[in-house]
Amino acid sequence: MDYDDYGSDAVELAVDLANADRTDPEWASAFVAAHHEWFTEGTDLELSRKHGKAAGTTADLVREVALASSQSEVVQRLNALLALASPKPYATDHDGALHLHYAAPEAGALEQLATTVAMGLSQVVVQHGWERLGVCAADGCGNVYLDTSRNGSRRYCSSTCSSRSTVAAYRARKKG
Ligand SMILES: [Zn+2]
Ligand SMILES: [Zn+2]
Repeated sequence: MDYDDYGSDAVELAVDLANADRTDPEWASAFVAAHHEWFTEGTDLELSRKHGKAAGTTADLVREVALASSQSEVVQRLNALLALASPKPYATDHDGALHLHYAAPEAGALEQLATTVAMGLSQVVVQHGWERLGVCAADGCGNVYLDTSRNGSRRYCSSTCSSRSTVAAYRARKKG
């Protein structure tokens, strides 16, 4: 998926967080470790259980924004998410490309996570429309996705879910 046109790569972190598997009690530390490029070098990426729970709340809020069915719901849920953020934006080119970071570099892992997710997601939703954020329509999937298609017609999180659903619909038609 190409997030570049969306002005904020941080939305990718938000979508990944909403879709993270949380069955393992240590999931939050594993998630942060797998996305370490979003955190200031030297940040302690080990999240306590309490911070893990808070990361789960952040993930739930991202999902709730995606599930919203009206703009007033989006406003309410986006603001609940933004309330978890402690923005202190700064420009950086640590990876060669000039881009913004949203959280203070010395902030803890949870604060960096919540701030980057909230700021990245709300920036995209405000600029491109809340209809661009959705939940996969495939049976039993439920992944949050960002629709980066030109006409905004996407309904599935991936081409796998899309073709799986097409095949299922075809079989259902054949049966009926
Ligand atoms: Zn960066
Ligand atoms: Zn899916």
